[in-house]
Amino acid sequence: MQTRRETIAELLEKTEYPMTAEEICERLDIKKRSIVYEDLDHISKSVKRDNKELLIRPASCGKCQFVFKVGKTAKAPSKCPKCRSQWILAPAFLIRSKKK
Ligand SMILES: [Zn+2]
Repeated sequence: MQTRRETIAELLEKTEYPMTAEEICERLDIKKRSIVYEDLDHISKSVKRDNKELLIRPASCGKCQFVFKVGKTAKAPSKCPKCRSQWILAPAFLIRSKKK
């Protein structure tokens, strides 16, 4: 049996476009986004063993287009540090093989 993390990793390898945690939840019927973010933190480490990497399209502010730095965790920020807007476009993820 595949673990949930393996299923998420497989989904992100096959996807053509980066997927947000919300899309991953919908696709795999996961109840909470926080579960996905936690899994992504683990996946970003574990894929390195297979010479792959988790690529992140960083979160950005919907109001002023401020782009957040990719931090230590995958989780989305809740507020823009520049304009204080809470309209945050979620980060999106995919997995690709590292180029040799
Ligand atoms: Zn902003």
